[in-house]
Amino acid sequence: MHRVSSVLRKSLAETLVKPERLLIVDDENRIRSSIRLLLNGLGAEIVECENGCDAISALENQDFDVVLLDINLPDISGLEVMEWIFSNKVHVSVIFVSADDCIDSAILALRRGAVEYVRKPNELEDLPHKVESILYRRRLERSNAQMMMRLEQSEYLHRFLVESSPDLIYTLDHKGHFTYINNRVESLLGFTSDELIGSAYSTIVHEDDLERACYAFNERRRDTRAVANLEVRLKCKNKTFRHFEHNLVVSMLSATAIYEEMSGDGLQSANSYVGTYGVARDITERKIAEETISFQAFHDQLTHLPNQRLFKDRLEMAINQVKRHGGMVGVMFIDLDRFKMVNDTYGHSSGDELLKGVALRLRLCMRAGDTLARKGGDEFTVLLPDMVKTEDATVIAEKIIKELGAPFKIAGQLVHISASIGISILPRDGENADIVMKNADIAMYKVKATGKNGFKYFVPAMNESSRERINLEHDLRQALYNSEFLLHYQPQVSVSKNEIVGMEALIRWNHPTHGLMNPGGFIELAEETGLIGAITDWTLGEACRQLADWREKGLTSLRMAVNVSPQEFDRNDIIERILPHLAQNLLPADSLEIEITENILLREVPSVISKMRILRSQGIAIAIDDFGTCYSSLNYLRLFPVSTIKIDQSFVRDLNEDNRVSPVIQAIIGIARGYGMNLLAEGVETESQLKILRELGCDEMQGFIFSKALPAADAERLLLSGLSVNTPGMPTVHIRDGKLNYITSAFEHSV
Ligand code: C2E
Ligand code: MG
Ligand code: MG
Repeated sequence: MHRVSSVLRKSLAETLVKPERLLIVDDENRIRSSIRLLLNGLGAEIVECENGCDAISALENQDFDVVLLDINLPDISGLEVMEWIFSNKVHVSVIFVSADDCIDSAILALRRGAVEYVRKPNELEDLPHKVESILYRRRLERSNAQMMMRLEQSEYLHRFLVESSPDLIYTLDHKGHFTYINNRVESLLGFTSDELIGSAYSTIVHEDDLERACYAFNERRRDTRAVANLEVRLKCKNKTFRHFEHNLVVSMLSATAIYEEMSGDGLQSANSYVGTYGVARDITERKIAEETISFQAFHDQLTHLPNQRLFKDRLEMAINQVKRHGGMVGVMFIDLDRFKMVNDTYGHSSGDELLKGVALRLRLCMRAGDTLARKGGDEFTVLLPDMVKTEDATVIAEKIIKELGAPFKIAGQLVHISASIGISILPRDGENADIVMKNADIAMYKVKATGKNGFKYFVPAMNESSRERINLEHDLRQALYNSEFLLHYQPQVSVSKNEIVGMEALIRWNHPTHGLMNPGGFIELAEETGLIGAITDWTLGEACRQLADWREKGLTSLRMAVNVSPQEFDRNDIIERILPHLAQNLLPADSLEIEITENILLREVPSVISKMRILRSQGIAIAIDDFGTCYSSLNYLRLFPVSTIKIDQSFVRDLNEDNRVSPVIQAIIGIARGYGMNLLAEGVETESQLKILRELGCDEMQGFIFSKALPAADAERLLLSGLSVNTPGMPTVHIRDGKLNYITSAFEHSV
């Protein structure tokens, strides 16, 4: 910009009109005066000098148009002044005015560059005419020079503007060959303008856009009808260049035809097409931004799958198609099982990795035309628009379950994940998008509720259970405020000591209409809805209060086991939520045992381990509940500061007189011994189970053989009455107050 303005300034200064100036050099005052008199009428400024040296200094200091120079001067001759003018390249017209008649001096003066030779005094009258014509010629020359300069400057300015344009500016001849293209082409496409001049526009236009470009150039329109805003992709010279997809630049092209006016024979004049000129603007960045924005508007950022907006749109389209031409549309609702656990265990970035991996595998299960979309979190939806029979979805669902069956490698660990899939079909299960989506969701929940890792088609009866679930969730939120929870207590017996060593607190919900509910009916819902936090706090408080009460009544060595959901250990405040209950009830820490189900061991996160360590360091015992149900946990067990292993009841159930050997129980007992952990068998129901477990080396037991979980008052009576195990031979358990006489009758007779 600086260069342009300086050029403009210079040109303006040059165009200012200069005053015309004459210099009369003669030693005779009279001659000078008469020449001045003669030339006064010309309107020029007149300066006089009486010798050569003064003339030179005047010429040095001022511009003159004409010098009227006498040859014979008192100091140096007029010819020497002329010599000086010549060698100093002073742009002035010289007229020699001399009394010298000699032709030689006239020739010499003219050779030196004088424009006229006038003799004095005779020819002096001719001077005004001669000077005027010289001035006129000089004026012409000057205006010519100024015009040339303006032209040059204007051309320079235009070239500067064209060459520094951020757009491509081009001209084509009538055959579509470049006759001009500005230098921008080099930075934009990698071609030099010389390389392109002479070649066809197709050299730089992408093949797929040639038809459009050809149309633009063949239309040969101009003025308001000229082609404008035509999107054309231009090719770069080589692959190392930037850009869009496949090394392309997207341009917004304009093309205006150029016609040459040709005068016809009569009044008519014809126009002949000579070519096209135009501009191509690089809109690649804008295009990328637009595409990104529109992609983001319809796709999920993490997996790049269509989002729900796009899914819904496609679903509506598929539904319209079915309504017009018949057929059916399937919708799948996929929810990953245990995803939250992976997310919490390995961190969110690993969770994201897993979601990407899942999206990739799910895509492999789709047919062309199906839409897989991410609904959010660990939920995906599938649109099956071309279903011939309902079972088509079965094939895909089975494929998905099989694909997800193989473990994922996340953060260097093998992670197993599964999915619960609900399927609903239009028109069978609903007539619009919202209903089929909702029904697929309900079917998915049914899968979740019945063991996960599977698929189910929606059936109308599910509607009822989904409504029930919603109602239950509502009731659960009220339950704490309405004091509807209570604890039952199940004794934990040491067979060798003949006594109850602990009580496990098991929650019950006294539901206003359903009656007394077991935790199986609501704990999972509480975990899903986050209500588990408040329930855990209440359970811990109540169990500790009860333990303190029993300890006051003399049961000072009694231990209380409280179940805490594994997900509570994801929270940072779990320690602060457990410890105060001990202090408030003046309980020694070792009187409390926290039971966590075995899948806590799958969360091999340092934070879970450190929380368990803190509890252990305080003296609180930690039992791993339902041990043996997750195989992978055996490896991890040693990492966790566990005090007790509770053998899951499923292994105990299998024990009987004919089946006295259980490799799993033996392995668990081996591990517990190896790590110095306490051992407790759950679900002991029969004498033979008790006997076998005892022989295997398991001393602590819990199960219906001793007592089921009892309301606090009944548990208290049982505790205070005492429990004895009579050996030798068959262990016989009876409660001293006579209500529970034999182990075999313990189950049948409630206390
Ligand atoms: P769990 O901790 O493994 O508790 C043992 C379950 O087995 C109890 O069921 C108990 O009544 C039952 N049981 C005990 N002995 C026998 C037996 O000899 N045979 C059979 N067939 N069953 C027996 P319950 O009370 O329905 O509890 C189920 C599960 O709910 C518990 O399993 C525990 O994981 C969970 N739970 C209970 N209370 C709470 C709580 O306060 N918080 C949390 N987070 N979970 C709890
Ligand atoms: Mg338990
Ligand atoms: Mg258990």
